[in-house]
Amino acid sequence: MVCNFNFKRFFGEIGKEFIHVHYEIEISTIGEDYEINPITDLKPICPNCHAMLHKRKPAYLIDELREIAGFSVRESIYIKFPCFKKLTI
Ligand SMILES: [Zn+2]
Ligand SMILES: [Zn+2]
Repeated sequence: MVCNFNFKRFFGEIGKEFIHVHYEIEISTIGEDYEINPITDLKPICPNCHAMLHKRKPAYLIDELREIAGFSVRESIYIKFPCFKKLTI
């Protein structure tokens, strides 16, 4: 994830389990016998961030986009667990 937008939290039930998946590999550079590893190659991402990733060809890496958006890993953790804020600042 880049922005950690939570569809479930925002839209309730209809947002449940709604997420895009991005293949973080260069489809054009891999051989035909490459086996996709769902753990490392498939990244869950919200549709907005997904569209942004594909603004460039080849696509931005998720880490790059996070940096562009100004989200540090630490900030992402805050969004997920707002109660961390108090403890770490
Ligand atoms: Zn993608
Ligand atoms: Zn997003």
